[in-house]
Parts: sequence; C-alpha cells; structure tokens
Amino acid sequence: MSNKKNNPANSIQDLQLFGEFGGVNPSIADSSTFTYLAGKTMGDMFEGTREGCYLYSRHTNPSTSYLGQALAGLEYMKGAILSASGMGAITTTILQICNTGDEIISSRTIYGGTYAFMKNYLPKFNIKTSFVDTTDLSQIENAITDKTKVVYCETMSNPLLEISDIKSISNIAKKHRIKLVVDNTFTPMIFSPGKMGADVVIHSLTKFINGTSDTVGGVVCSDEEFITKMIDVNSGSTMLLGPVMDSMRAASILKNIRTLHLRMKKHSENAQYLSEKFQDDGLKVIYPGLKNHPQHEMMKKNMNDGFGFGGMFVINTGSKEKANNLMEKMQENNVGYLAVSLGFYKTLFCAPGSSTSSEISESEQKNMGLSDGLIRFSVGLDDDIKRTYEVIIKCMKEVKII
Ligand code: PLP
Repeated sequence: MSNKKNNPANSIQDLQLFGEFGGVNPSIADSSTFTYLAGKTMGDMFEGTREGCYLYSRHTNPSTSYLGQALAGLEYMKGAILSASGMGAITTTILQICNTGDEIISSRTIYGGTYAFMKNYLPKFNIKTSFVDTTDLSQIENAITDKTKVVYCETMSNPLLEISDIKSISNIAKKHRIKLVVDNTFTPMIFSPGKMGADVVIHSLTKFINGTSDTVGGVVCSDEEFITKMIDVNSGSTMLLGPVMDSMRAASILKNIRTLHLRMKKHSENAQYLSEKFQDDGLKVIYPGLKNHPQHEMMKKNMNDGFGFGGMFVINTGSKEKANNLMEKMQENNVGYLAVSLGFYKTLFCAPGSSTSSEISESEQKNMGLSDGLIRFSVGLDDDIKRTYEVIIKCMKEVKII
C-alpha cells in the first residue's frame, strides 16, 4: 500500500522494518563502529567511492537510518539525518549552507534558541541575519541581497502561532536561488512543507514527534544530495560537528511515532475546544483554528486533512503576575505542568516572554506582540477536556482573571 497522497500518516503505517529474528521491530544496532572484511572497502568508504556499508555511528547507524527513513517519508522528502537535539539540526543545517559573509533572512517570531543562534552566535562567522515579518511577503523580497543564502521560518511560529505561507515564500526563494529552511516542529502531520516547496524541513523531535518528554532529538529532512553533504567526512557539518543521535534513542523514537497521527488529532481537538470556549468567555486567545486568526483561511487551504489546527494555543492574562498566578494555580489543580516544551500527554504551560523567548530583547518582544501576560499552552491528550476546561475556569476565577 503506497498511495499516501495527502496523508503523511500512511508513510509511517506502511513502513516494514523487521528485526534480526523476524521481530516486528527492527533490531537495535548497538555499535559505534562496524567491521569490514577487506581493508580496501574501508578505504573506499572514506574516499566516498563506496556506498551501502556502515562505517562509524557519527556518520550513520542502521537504527538512526530507520528513523530517518520514517521521518523522510513523513515529510515527503528523499533523505533525513538525525541529530541529538532540534538545535543540533538547526545549527548544522545553517552552517552547512552558509559561508562567512553570507546572509540569512529569518522570521522574527521563531524559537528563542534559534533566534539567539542567528543574532548572537553567527556574527562570529560574519554571517548576518535580517529578522522580518515573514507573513508579509514584501518584507522578505525587500531584505534579499546578493549575499542571501537562506530564508528561514517556522510553519507555525513559536510562540505567537503565526502561520507561514510556505508556497509563496518558496516561490520567492526559488526565484532568487535561495534555500528555504522550515522548522515544522509545531505541526508534524498537519503541514508538509517539503511538498509546498521547502528545501529543508527540520523538527525538534523532543516535542510532538516523540511525544513522551523523555529525550531531546532533532532531524533534518531534505533531498539526498543535501543529506549526503551533511555527512561528508571532509566537509559535512553533522559529521564534523558531531551532534548525532544514539541508536537506542532512535529505536525508542521510532516506536513512539507510530501513534503520532492519533496524538496530533487529539491534541488539536482539545486545543480547538479550549480556545473556542475561552474566546467565548471573553479572553484574548491566539489559535489558528479560530476564525479570527489572521492566517486561518490560508492554513485551511494548505494543511493536510484530518489532523486539526495543532495542539498549541496562547492566552493573554494581561500581566506577568497574573500569568504566574494562573500557571501555579493550574499546576496545583493538576491541569498540567508549569514547564517549557510541548507535545506531552499532559498539558504544559509557560510564559514565553520570560522563558522560551527570553533570548529576544524586551523591545523586540514588544514589536512582535509578545507581551508579559501571555501563557503558551501545549494541550495534552485529556480524554475529558470538558472537565479540564471547568477546572481551568475555576483557577481563573480564583486568581481573578475572569
Ligand atoms: N524549534 C522549535 C520550534 C522549538 O520550539 C525548539 C525548542 O523548544 C527547538 C526548535 C529546539 O529544539 P531542541 O530543544 O530539541 O534542541
């Protein structure tokens, strides 16, 4: 069965990877290095004239390759390379593409760590980033120079949940022969940026894809040529900087992604329910599944069917103090945990201004609409979301938010 069309879940469902003794799960290749029968074959591997053998696990490993195959399928891309964290995937990709003197155009609303890497770290290599509002295509066009090598954005941005119009951004990037790199961490299954024209699709596996908050991990999906460059023994940034994933962890993530489609549906269903209820209660809510979200219609046109609008929403409580009071109260009442990250079975909430986006200066936060009183929710897999809603409302009343 291979007709996966608009259903990326089929790519995972159709995988047949057997273990050494016919096991229904592939065996774990628990080795850092691999033997060769002939010295010449090993030499050929280093020279890049021989393929199809494993050499050393910083290069590739059967277990990470299996997971790579699953993730490349999920993203409709030809290849994938795993990394030890989402940041490992992002930094190696950028350093693979950019040389000293090159420039990046990035969305201004991105994960704080990515922002800090571009703003504070890359200038060491004389790589400059222009941060623009990528929902306004003219800002991207106007920022392009003859040194621009990358346009970077998140399909659904962290934390403001802006949606990038990947097809239109990709048309601009292609016209200028610039690579479009898209972080799809918030919307696996929901969006397939590779099908919409992205050259590289990145995930922090730490979040929805793994879904059990027990590890950090990342992946770079792209065409075979780019992935081969990333692991080149002489010039590949994954190979030379070395942030690779361990085989045991890769095997464990492979097992977890088999339920990703079900989890995404439930996260979305619960987030849609809560955000609609809170909006009806008069709260300021950001959720792409709400009709008043600025990119709601565009998202509807471009998303894959059946996975909803995602498990993340944001409310504005009005002040940092109110946000902290509400989060503490919700944790006390077991609504979820006051913790960064996302994609867990339990609801996670944090105030992004003072946590996951704290790398962004106060004035820049203000410019992009990221205020102190925001709470970002990663909605859990609660079976009884009506009960959860009632408990949150009780908490809001106790801390005088409503
Ligand atoms: N991309 C996004 C959108 C994120 O939210 C994060 C982390 O929060 C990252 C990348 C970095 O991933 P990791 O923490 O796995 O390095």
